[in-house]
This record gives sequence, structure tokens and C-alpha cells, in this order.
Amino acid sequence: MPVSDLSAEPKTAIVIGAGIGGLSAAVRLAVKGYQVSVFDKNDGPGGKLTQFQLGKYRFDFGPSLFTMPAFVEELFQLAGKTPGDYFSYESLDHACRYYFSDGMIFTAPTNVDQFCQAAAQTFQVNPEDLSAYFSKNQKIFEKAGWIFLNRSMYKLSTFLNKEALDAVLQTYVIELFRTMHRATLQQVKEPHLVQLFDRYATYNGSSPYRAPGILNSISILEHLHGTYFPRGGMFAITSALHRLALELGVRFAFNTPVEQILTKSGRVSGILAADGQVHPAEVVISNMDVTFTYQRLLKGKSMPWLQRGGEKSSSAVIFYWGVKKVIPALRLHNIFFSRDYQEEFEALFQRKALGADPTVYVNISSVHEPDDAPEGCSNWFVMVNAPADHGQDWDTLIKQLRQTAIDKLNAALDIDLHTLIEEEYIADPRVIEAKTLSHRGALYGHSSNHWLNAFLRHPNFSGQIKGLYFVGGSVHPGGGIPLCLLSSKIAASLIP
Ligand code: FAD
Repeated sequence: MPVSDLSAEPKTAIVIGAGIGGLSAAVRLAVKGYQVSVFDKNDGPGGKLTQFQLGKYRFDFGPSLFTMPAFVEELFQLAGKTPGDYFSYESLDHACRYYFSDGMIFTAPTNVDQFCQAAAQTFQVNPEDLSAYFSKNQKIFEKAGWIFLNRSMYKLSTFLNKEALDAVLQTYVIELFRTMHRATLQQVKEPHLVQLFDRYATYNGSSPYRAPGILNSISILEHLHGTYFPRGGMFAITSALHRLALELGVRFAFNTPVEQILTKSGRVSGILAADGQVHPAEVVISNMDVTFTYQRLLKGKSMPWLQRGGEKSSSAVIFYWGVKKVIPALRLHNIFFSRDYQEEFEALFQRKALGADPTVYVNISSVHEPDDAPEGCSNWFVMVNAPADHGQDWDTLIKQLRQTAIDKLNAALDIDLHTLIEEEYIADPRVIEAKTLSHRGALYGHSSNHWLNAFLRHPNFSGQIKGLYFVGGSVHPGGGIPLCLLSSKIAASLIP
């Protein structure tokens, strides 16, 4: 090896934000040989993927559904470590228990064949129609999805190859221009199943009545690749990656907001932290929401026109309840659907309001992790999709919503939640924005209600400033843990 290589100082990289995108970017750059420092305004890692304690109950703050664990494991393998030494997870036989407004209940097997058989029996449909639905979406996922998820949409090389051409020719370009709902109706007509499949739009905070049909391929994540539960809860993902990063020599500065990305002659030169300290770097990766990165850290620069002013994804109101009872009917993931799904999404995106009868999602990690709640009790994460924050009167809305949600759950489960809730914390779009600096509290950056917003999100690099990269849920390929992990993979592939 040449002497100059041995004596060369490692290049420095700064990551702004220790969300899942930032942590995975830090790991990837450390493996590449960079000296990496991560700055976060919060007092620990994780961003939306954090946890907190409420009395004797433990709660994950944000994500509850874990898919594609291989994307997490890949980071340990890259670093030459054994993933199982850091984190483990169990595979779930059932994806979700669905409660419909007419009283029907369907516990959805994760396995696609079992799903088709069980759904065919429950809803009296032909299992082959359901298999055809999944097969088509699998094809889309494997042909087009894979290219979109693994490559930058802003590099010509992504499109100039046989694979991409094949995908364009075969991948039902039409699915870009008809909605998820319409595309589903082509193959499945049974209303309960249509509502169930339409729900996949919420996995990136969008409306099935507007998002492109190609996104029906999200169902493949759950039913072909499986759903999982990390031992110790979702936060175990954050702690495992944080530990890995520390072992790779990554430095973390918590409680340290970044105020400015510094540039010199069209290149990044470092960052200015809120304590007035300048930290030089050759590479800066922003894991901060991209809208806020431009507004607050890159004053004088504006977002590329394509991403300017796009509609935000949905946000959420979450009730974290310590419930002094175990309800045997409830599983890890439970959905209590609204009567009128279309009305619910119109309220969210057109009127920026809450639906009159919203769908309620209940996640109970203590079903799998008994230590998350005292004996005989359970920790309920009760989430209702909400519009992004546009200055609505949240305090009044939440008061009404709390009652609506309790009434709905009481009726479906024949319980009296008012007497069972012994601990409570409530998060709303304002809280999500304050905690994670996500513009308007949106869970997934821009919505994918328009195909342009779905597929041409902000690139993982800056076209204006050399050495500046972007990762996380607000940029390509999108929000959710698996996609955030891929954002850092794409960004790292662009960094020399
Ligand atoms: P974020 O988690 O957004 O973190 C960004 C970090 O950057 C924060 O820690 C913030 O403090 C820090 N930061 C920002 N600006 C600065 C600055 N200037 N200086 C210093 N630090 C800064 N995904 C799933 O896969 N499954 C789910 O079930 C799921 N459910 C969800 C439920 C809820 C309620 C929420 C909120 C999200 C959910 N998501 C889910 C989405 C998922 O959580 C996000 O897509 C993902 O965690 C976002 O990660 P990120 O890398 O974009 O960073």
C-alpha cells in the first residue's frame, strides 16, 4: 500500500440528525473510512424512532410496523459484524387484525397464500382473484419498485439500461395514472378487501383515492417479505444502530442543534452549531427534513422547483395509553376501520380536517414484550391519521377525537376504556414537528398523492452545493424505516 494512503488523514463527514436515515448514513460513511460526527438537537438518537416511559409503561414514540429487517442487518454485515449480536426480531404469522364498521373481523395472515385462503373464506371471494392481485403487485415491486428504491432518480445511468427499459415497458405505466383505489377495483371488488388494500396508501401518508396505483405494491412488503417485531420493541433498531456506529468510531453530539450548513466556492465546508462552534467537514449529510434544511440551514438557497410546494403527507394524533387490563382479542396490530374511507381521506387532504368517523389503529407491543406494561396491563399506542399542521385548533379537535376513539373502541371491544386508562400522553402534528423538526408534523415528508411527488422526491444529493447529501423520510425514495435506510444507501453510493 502506498505510504501516502497510510498517512492520509481520514476525510470528515457530518450528519445532521440521528434519525434512522442519519444513523445508517453514519454507519455507511464510517465503513467507507470517513471520520463521522452526528449532531442532533435531541438528547439521544432515533428521531421518530425513539421510546419513552409513562409510569410503568414503555412506549415507542413513532413507528410500530417493522418490515424488511434485511436492510438493517445489511449495515452490520457491511461493518463485518454479526447482526444477531446487536439485535433480534421475530417473524409474525399475522400481519394485522382488522375490525370493520359492520362488525366483521379479519385476522390477516402474513403469508400471501394463507392470506388469500383466509380472506376468500371470510369474505366469500375467489382466492385466485386475490392471488392475481398480489402477483401483479409483486411484479411491479420487483421490476420497477426495485429500481426506484435502490437508485437515484436523478442519474441518467438509472434509466439507460435494459432492466429499467424492461420495467418501463412491462410495469403498467398506466398504474402511474390511475389511483390505488381504481387499480385495486380492477381486480378485487369485495368492499372489505378493497378497504383493507386501500389502507396501504397510509404507509406513506397518502390517500388511496389519489395516490398512483403503482403504490399498491406496498402490500408486497408486508405479505411477501413479512412483518416482524424487534425484541425490546421498535427502539431496539435505533439502539442497535447507535451502538454499531459508536463501535465504528462515529462521534455523537446530542443536544446540539445545527444552525447553518457552511459553504465555500460552491462546496460544503462544514456546519455551524447553535453553540457558535464551527465544525469543518468535506461531506455534510442532512437527515433534517429537507424543507427545513433549505429554510433554516441553507438560507439563500431554494428547493429545486420540482419539490417546491408539494402537498405534505398525513400526520397523526397519537394517544399513548397505559391500560390496566389485557384484552385477549387484541393483537400487536389492530385496525378499527371507518365507515366511509373516502370521506376520511377527503377530510384529511382536501379539508385538512379529521374525519367524522376516523379509522383507529391500536398497537400493543406488550402483546409480544410483556415487560412493556405491568402484569395484567397493556400499553396502547392509539393512532389516528390527521392532516399536516396548518394551524388547526388541535386542542379542540383532540378533545373530540379522544371521545370518538374511545366510543369506537368501547363499542367494538365491549369495554369501558374510561375506567381502564391509567396513564396518558398525547402527541399531535405540533408535537411531531417540535420533536423531530418535520415540516408541519408530516410523518413522511411529501405525500405521494401525485405521481411526481411519489417518484421525484428531493434527490439524495444537492445539485447546487458539492459535498451536500440528503437522507431520511422527506427525500428519495421516501418515508418509513425501510425507505429511510435505502436513502442512506443511495446517498452513500454517490459519495466518493
Ligand atoms: P427523523 O426520525 O425524522 O429524525 C430526524 C432527526 O434529525 C431528529 O432526531 C431531529 O432532532 C434531528 N434534527 C433535525 N434538524 C436538526 C438540526 N438542525 N440540528 C440537529 N438535529 C436536527 N415508519 C415505518 O416504517 N413503520 C411505521 O409503523 C411507522 N409509523 C409511524 C408512526 C408515527 C407516529 C411516526 C411519527 C412515524 C412513523 N413512521 C413509520 C415513519 C418513520 O418513523 C419515519 O419515516 C422515519 O423514522 C424517519 O426517519 P428520518 O431518518 O427521516 O429521521
